[in-house]
Amino acid sequence: MKRCSVEDCDWPYFHKGHCKPHFLQVQNYGKVVKKKIRKAICSVEGCKRIISGLEYCHAHYKQFKKNGKIIHKKIRKGNRR
Ligand SMILES: [Zn+2]
Ligand SMILES: [Zn+2]
Repeated sequence: MKRCSVEDCDWPYFHKGHCKPHFLQVQNYGKVVKKKIRKAICSVEGCKRIISGLEYCHAHYKQFKKNGKIIHKKIRKGNRR
């Protein structure tokens, strides 16, 4: 079985020598920025959504990509238009 190449990483192998979260880190930063990945839950405080990209849920990941940082911690359900 292949394993993530990052030391102490318990995540299942995903692609190019890394698990999914580490693979995404390398994709986005060009390197592994955080060795330990706790859970597949968004790293934003108070947010308990499943990770979509990097360490963020879909909504926070979009914020991060757009702004380069997290601006709104709380994301309300059901954005009305
Ligand atoms: Zn890993
Ligand atoms: Zn989140």
